[in-house]
Amino acid sequence: MVPKTSPFERLREKFEETELACRQCGYHDTDGGWRVTTSGSRVQYQFVCSSCSAVDTREMRL
Ligand SMILES: [Zn+2]
Repeated sequence: MVPKTSPFERLREKFEETELACRQCGYHDTDGGWRVTTSGSRVQYQFVCSSCSAVDTREMRL
């Protein structure tokens, strides 16, 4: 059974299942997570690498 969740929750879960590996240096962040900011109908996910400070940003529309 697939639980009924909001699109936002589903995106969140999808991102949290994703392995957090920096695209720049390959550092694997096990402590960090996506920072989520919302503005209107857009959701922005931001991950800052704690090794090289590269920022990975993804934006979704609800
Ligand atoms: Zn990095």
